[in-house]
Amino acid sequence: MLRLMTPGPTRVRENVRMARSLETTNPDLDPEFYDFYKDTCERISELLNTKNPAYILSGEGILGLEAACASLTEPGDRVLVIDNGVFGRGFADFVRIYGGDPVLYSTDYQMEVDVNTLKTYLEQDHDFKYATVVHCDTPSGRLNPIQDICPLLKSYGIITVVDAVASMFGEPLFVDEWQIDIVCGGSQKALSAPVGLTFLTVSPAAAKVMQERKHPVASFYANLTIFQDYYEKKWFPYTMPISDIYGLRAALENVRADEQIYERHRRVAGYVRDCLARAGYSIYGKNGFANTVTALEVPEGMTDQEIIEGVAENAGIMLAGSFDIFAGKLIRIGHMGENANMEDAKLTVEALLKVLSK
Ligand SMILES: *Cc1c(COP(=O)(O)O)cnc(C)c1O
Repeated sequence: MLRLMTPGPTRVRENVRMARSLETTNPDLDPEFYDFYKDTCERISELLNTKNPAYILSGEGILGLEAACASLTEPGDRVLVIDNGVFGRGFADFVRIYGGDPVLYSTDYQMEVDVNTLKTYLEQDHDFKYATVVHCDTPSGRLNPIQDICPLLKSYGIITVVDAVASMFGEPLFVDEWQIDIVCGGSQKALSAPVGLTFLTVSPAAAKVMQERKHPVASFYANLTIFQDYYEKKWFPYTMPISDIYGLRAALENVRADEQIYERHRRVAGYVRDCLARAGYSIYGKNGFANTVTALEVPEGMTDQEIIEGVAENAGIMLAGSFDIFAGKLIRIGHMGENANMEDAKLTVEALLKVLSK
């Protein structure tokens, strides 16, 4: 099997794989599982520095984004969609599906969102029920300063939804301090558990908006209000994927035990970017470089497939291309979670430079 250096799914450590093979109970009926689920959710909240409750949903990261939009949006609601990347813009689709009116705030994809420019914009127009923003927009490797964006939005009473699927546990997140109402994560990125789970934390303000809806949520699977008293009622809206959650718990313990986790991501990302830049190649973008993924511009005269196949054949390493407007233009190295270590970073950079220099 190729060594994964993709921006998710990432490699899964053995103790996580072992946890997934443990004997299971009936998660609908066994009160012990409700305690285990609640405890695991509390671990998530703790690692994200928030008192807000977390919920684990059975579905890939996209479900978390959709569930946030489904549960907040009512017909006609104006929603500010902060767009400086593919996932950023993609939120508009979820808003539209649930009857909302997405207002795109589009900026240069090569730069992080500039808070002062956003501030000027909001002075003119701030009549939004909520706003969406992506922390790390993976297809282009952009990182947004949500620590400034979310408090600014909240100063206008705008609820904030942050897609942190590709940053969570690779970049620090201070959900309470940064006033993030809903933050979404996924199992297969820096957490390094297999694909299949999404989790989010919900602030009291966001929960209140959901409770006070005039129209019912136009979804069952993506309805977050159903989860709000699962523990008291000992009832989940659907049977929880217990083995996935056992694996998730082990992965969360790995993160908790790793005191250098954010420093390690910073160091590895800095190393990868520096080596490629020093060799004369261009990293996509002008600022806001994420520490979980590096997006390298495909040099003229080469194709992304040539590079990806070359690195796979020569070094047994799997890299990723990009998609949407970046298809064919960028090569992505995922140095997140288990992939983020100097040994693999060195092997990857070496192999990549060899292929690029041909
Ligand atoms: C990975 C990811 C998701 C989940 O989407 P998939 O591409 O389907 O895995 C959502 N948002 C971001 C920013 C991601 O990187």
